[in-house]
Amino acid sequence: MSEPSTTLPVHPAQPAPQAADGAGCHAGKEKLKAQAAASGKAELLAKYAKDYPVGPHDQPQSMCPAFGSLRVGLRMRRTATVMSGSACCVYGLTFTSHFYGARRTVGYVPFNSETLVTGKLFEDIRDAVHELAKPEQNDAVVIINLCVPTASGVPLRLLPKVINGVRIIGIDVPGFGVPTHAEAKDVLAGAMLNYARLEAEEGPVQAPRTGRATKPTVTMLGEMFPVDPVSIGRMLEPMGLAAGPVVPTREWRELYAALDCAVVAAIHPFYTASVREFDAAGRTVVGSAPVGREGTEAWLERIGQSCGIAREKIDAAKNAVLPAIAGALAAKPIKGRITLSGYEGSELLVARLLIESGADVRYVGTACPRTPWSDADREWLESKGVMVQFRASLEQDVAAMREFEPDLTIGTTPVVQKAKEAGIPGLYFTNLISARPLMGPAGAGSLAQVINAALGNKARFDQMKAFFEGVGTGYATGVWQDLPKDRPEFKKAQLAAIERKKKSEEAIGC
Ligand code: SF4
Repeated sequence: MSEPSTTLPVHPAQPAPQAADGAGCHAGKEKLKAQAAASGKAELLAKYAKDYPVGPHDQPQSMCPAFGSLRVGLRMRRTATVMSGSACCVYGLTFTSHFYGARRTVGYVPFNSETLVTGKLFEDIRDAVHELAKPEQNDAVVIINLCVPTASGVPLRLLPKVINGVRIIGIDVPGFGVPTHAEAKDVLAGAMLNYARLEAEEGPVQAPRTGRATKPTVTMLGEMFPVDPVSIGRMLEPMGLAAGPVVPTREWRELYAALDCAVVAAIHPFYTASVREFDAAGRTVVGSAPVGREGTEAWLERIGQSCGIAREKIDAAKNAVLPAIAGALAAKPIKGRITLSGYEGSELLVARLLIESGADVRYVGTACPRTPWSDADREWLESKGVMVQFRASLEQDVAAMREFEPDLTIGTTPVVQKAKEAGIPGLYFTNLISARPLMGPAGAGSLAQVINAALGNKARFDQMKAFFEGVGTGYATGVWQDLPKDRPEFKKAQLAAIERKKKSEEAIGC
């Protein structure tokens, strides 16, 4: 008896899927962009290119951009957030969400090459959205297309706008269109503001949980340390103004209150899509933030003038807070040379505060783009001789550290790692600097403690460097019984093979 055949049936060749599961950041950005454009997303990509311009280099090296949108959705009450993308991307994003304490369910609509190519994935997404559209649980359902579904043109715009009174927000957040996770926050915040603005234009909308504000409010754009909006509220009081909601909001109904403001403070300057909605609602947007004495004075002046506040009230607001800030800065001085970089969007504000505390800041790199709302901070920093680099790459941040030989480097994980290797004390921007108050008197002294402690660590770093000196670097990193042998000839042969493959592919037009 013959063995049962294990040969798979042969089918006529099928057209290759436009983008298969597993293709992603590593599949080539230009290829994915071309696929997305061919799949009906050309207009969207053009909008992203305008809102979030890249350059001078290609794209900053930071985490998957979609994390920004995911985080905004997960932090909102009564909001279900669902992703559609490759399993590996969703795994990483879910992991990161829970690492940062999401404590919420992350929804996922899986796919394979077949459901992607046949259009079944869109049907699956629609089913998931219908299942989640329960008004007793949710105000909104957010569905995020990651790279592959975006490149394949999965048409979230065809989803119903509302199901059982629950709003459905579909957004594409591909790594090849949205450069940073900071700007991905804006993609979702902007989409929600747009939806809420159109609702408000159609008729009465829900009031905030705490009732409508009795004073004109200042809406704040950008995630802040929780005490900062409270400090800002106190600083606004003498002008007869109040702190409004922070966008991204924590609840749908806050979106209406955010739009219903006297002025918008772009504390973080990269919220381009959100600003577009505030513009459409007829609101003025003011850049910078009340950091340090000079920063606070200039900010209160701009806010007061934008709201038509009388001169004596603006001066009263300044007089109420500036001496306290000056006192706090003088009480906790920072002495030392610092280079700073990050991808949160608040880098320029932190640099201002450091300089007003007495630090010698030489370089500020931010992964975010230059916008009109960062101009005031950039001009102030440049007037102090600071080099400001927008869309900064890791290489630029590291080169600045080498060039300026700081006493302390504040940066992203790889920058800090390189600083420590060089025996320079380093602090992580996201975990240690972003997690502190920056505004008003509370912010004035808050950085000094952590910065001065780090500056005081130089001797320990020198000791560690001396201790580990000679244990090996590069291929010989670590402690060995038999030191590994470098094989440059293998690398050379592999590089030559790659080059040959590339040339032969070019020759046959791959
Ligand atoms: S969704 Fe994020 S992790 Fe996945 S391919 Fe795109 S950029 Fe990479």
